Formats: sequence, structure tokens, C-alpha cells
Amino acid sequence: MSHTPFREAIIDLPALSGNVAQLKNSLGTPHLMIVVKANAYGHGMVEAAHATLAGGATWLGVADIDEALTLRSAGITAPILAWIHAPDETFVEALAADVTVGISSVAQLRSCAAAQQSSSSRTPARVHVKLETGLSRNGASEPEWAELFGEAAALEAQGSLVVEGIFSHLSNASPEDDLAQGELFDRGVSAAREAGLTPTLIHLAASVAAVTLPTLRYDMVRLGILAYGISPFVGRTAADLGLTPVMTLRARVTATRRVPAETGVSYDFTYRTPRETTLCLVPLGYGEGIPRAASGKAPVVIAGQKFVIAGRVAMDQFIVDVGDTPVAVGDEVVLFGDPAQGYPSVGDWAAAASTIGYEIVTRLGGRLQRTFVGLGQ
Ligand SMILES: *Cc1c(COP(=O)(O)O)cnc(C)c1O
Repeated sequence: MSHTPFREAIIDLPALSGNVAQLKNSLGTPHLMIVVKANAYGHGMVEAAHATLAGGATWLGVADIDEALTLRSAGITAPILAWIHAPDETFVEALAADVTVGISSVAQLRSCAAAQQSSSSRTPARVHVKLETGLSRNGASEPEWAELFGEAAALEAQGSLVVEGIFSHLSNASPEDDLAQGELFDRGVSAAREAGLTPTLIHLAASVAAVTLPTLRYDMVRLGILAYGISPFVGRTAADLGLTPVMTLRARVTATRRVPAETGVSYDFTYRTPRETTLCLVPLGYGEGIPRAASGKAPVVIAGQKFVIAGRVAMDQFIVDVGDTPVAVGDEVVLFGDPAQGYPSVGDWAAAASTIGYEIVTRLGGRLQRTFVGLGQ
């Protein structure tokens, strides 16, 4: 490129490693899975995976097998669990790459065993059985447990597979709802043991319950959002949790314009200047995942001062009314970053766009460049 990046997500990899180390220490489970699905919530999957392992993660979690294979192609040898599968998934590539598969049904269990039997490997396939305990997503529900565990025990005896883990996922609807899921989960784990299975990795909690419900931590917690230094709690910041925001989203002002009062700004003129003022053009739009719902609401920092987006977020750009603040083309605009440095948080953006921090960072893409700080450390 013949220019410096003018729309950029800066990813602080040492901050990511530090968050993981801090969480490992404070939560204290024997194993720690860091979830790097969906391009590590927009943070860059391969780089984020290396940083989380450097911070002490013992497992990586992804949604699907393609994501796991991307990690393997990048040379990552840590255990990886993938749990969302194509309807006709054969598991052949997953087993060849030593990816641990989450199994939600007898059909998936059989496909996995068949893949192992057809391979030249004499090592059994490692699987984690997923139980449906109340979220109404994937996982085997209680009436299916007897058949699933019986079949798994038979396939274990044959040497095709080993049920290394049992897991489920919580709704976070309320502590009572999550504890009720935990009770059903315990019954499922007991039923698996009665069927002769000997899983060593029992895991249930993701970020919210890992922090708030210590009895649900078991052998491992699966953390996504916390590792990226974003709080999933309303009224509790990342700093309150001892975490550092990993991503700073910034751009360079591409144009400035001095305009009179009553000037219409961006599509639909939902904003008109209240007085003579300076408008700055920021080259980020919904093409990069900036939510259009943040139009007229989300904060940015320019020249050390906080402003709010003026008018509509468009596909490629938005506008900020900076009043009489001197701002020049090329100046930095920070959308969010570490509040300790005076920047808005991902949570501020989530509130402005009526969504959650997860969605703000995960949707980022398009023409945005990711710059990794601390690569190779
Ligand atoms: C995404 C996901 C997680 C991580 O959730 P966070 O709330 O980001 O910690 C954990 N487990 C499963 C099954 C998931 O799908």
C-alpha cells in the first residue's frame, strides 16, 4: 500500500495474553478454553489464538471444523473443539487434523466412528458430547441420553472413539435459570458415567457464568468475550473485571469542511448544524460493520475531545461535527479503545446501537485493516 492505514483495528496481543493469564488465575479451573470463533470476535483468529495460548489457554474453541482447520494450517497444535457441523459432515478432515468434535446426536456419533474406522489411524477419535440442558440449541436432550451414551460406550469398547468430555451451554437468562441448567447437566453427566463412560473434561460455563456462578466452573470454562477485554455485564466495566480492552478502532479524517448554520448532514438530513461549524469526514461505514443504528448516537474521540456521530452512518463513511475544534485531514479519530486512555468503550458503542459488545466487534470487517501489536512476542 502506498499510504498509512486510514481505517484500522489495532489489536493489542499482549493485552489479550494478559487477560487470559488474569482469567486463568482468578477462575482457577484446571483447563481453560478460549473461544476464537468468528475470526476471534473480529480480532483476527490465528493471531488471537497464538496470544491466548501464550497467556495460558489449554484449549481453543471454534464453532465449525473449517475454523479449526484454519488454525491447524497455521501450525497451531493445541487441542481444538468444534461444535457446529454441516448436516452431511463426515468428520474425515476433522479427525485427520486431530480436531476434537462436539457431538450432539447419535447420527453424528456414528459418522465420527465411521470416519475413524475408514482412516489408517489406530487412535480413537476424541469427542465431547454436548447435552441440551435448556438453551434449545444443539446438544442431545434428556430422552436421547440413554441411546447416545449406550452407543458411545459400545464404540469406545471397539476403539473407534473416546468420550473425553461432556458439555452444554447456558442461557444467562438469570442465575436461577443457569443453576437449573446445571442440575440437569449434572444428571446427564451421572447418566454418562452409569453407562460406563469416563469423561475427564466436564464444562458448562462461558464468560457470564464463569464469573458469577463458581459452582458451574467444573474442569474447564469456555471464555470468549472476557478474553477480548469486553464486559458482558451491564454496569460492570472491563476494568472492574481486571481486564484490558484488546481492540482500538480508529480512522484518519479524510476531509474537513467549514459550513454555516442549518447545513444538512449525511443522508436524510437527520442532523442539521446548529451554528457555523466544522464537519469532519470519517472513512468507516456499515461496509466495515459500523452499525447504522449508531447514527447520531455513538461517541468518537478526535483531538482528545469526545463527539457524537452527526447524522446517518453511510456505507463507507460518517460525519462528525467538531464545532470550532481545529481538526485537519489525516488527524486520528478513535471510535473505541481503552477508556483508561480516554476512549469510548465497546460497551458505549453497544449502548448507542442498542446491541451487545459481542456484535460490535464481531461484525467488523470489510475494508478495515487489522494491525497487530506485539506480534511474535
Ligand atoms: C460462543 C460460545 C462461548 C463463548 O461465549 P462468551 O460469552 O463469549 O464467553 C462458549 N461456549 C459456546 C458453546 C459458545 O458458542
